[in-house]
Amino acid sequence: MNTPVADQKSITQPKPVKKRKLIGDRGDYFLNRIEGETGANVSACYQCERCTNACPVSHFMDIKPHQAIRYVQLGWREDLLKSSTIWVCLSCEMCTTYCPNEVGVAEVINHLRNIAAHSSITPKERNLAVFHQTFLEVLEKSGRVNEFQLMNAYYLKPNILHEKIKNGSFKEELLLGLALLRKGRLKPFTSRSKAIKDIQKAYIQTRGEIV
Ligand code: SF4
Ligand code: SF4
Repeated sequence: MNTPVADQKSITQPKPVKKRKLIGDRGDYFLNRIEGETGANVSACYQCERCTNACPVSHFMDIKPHQAIRYVQLGWREDLLKSSTIWVCLSCEMCTTYCPNEVGVAEVINHLRNIAAHSSITPKERNLAVFHQTFLEVLEKSGRVNEFQLMNAYYLKPNILHEKIKNGSFKEELLLGLALLRKGRLKPFTSRSKAIKDIQKAYIQTRGEIV
């Protein structure tokens, strides 16, 4: 008996099966990249959460340090670059110190922050991102960071001074700055570091990375 045409179609053209996205498809690339660029042993993380428990600012992070490491393993690049975590992190390295597997959590988060700074992704914590960028600019210019010059450069960035005047923090910071100036704790001028050439070379090498 001949199979009807409609039935033949269903036999010869089966419904396309949606290919399951394997974690390794995208995770391996990002994981390898981060491990290669930072030297951190991200694969060794077994999610004990000691890094998060040691972190003094984890309450302000949308992705906790142990989760950030898991995200790197899974290749969830965008979520990480859009997170508040990378800007809230103080680089205090408590997480790295307390990790039993020497994962290098702080190094990873710091590196993610640098990748985000060079990407087109809008930072979740804009002011912190601008401050970070200004810090790097001041460091590149003189090889060291002078707080007086840093704060001046930061205030001159778009909207920063306006926002600070509006929320009242500028007056507070101005009074603090004047008090520090009077005590000689804030120097308006500073000499360039002797290592300036090496520092600027490192900047050039960093900018050459593929993001
Ligand atoms: S402390 Fe180390 S092993 Fe534990 S969750 Fe954090 S990164 Fe992973
Ligand atoms: S380096 Fe960052 S993530 Fe690690 S403990 Fe300090 S603030 Fe938290």
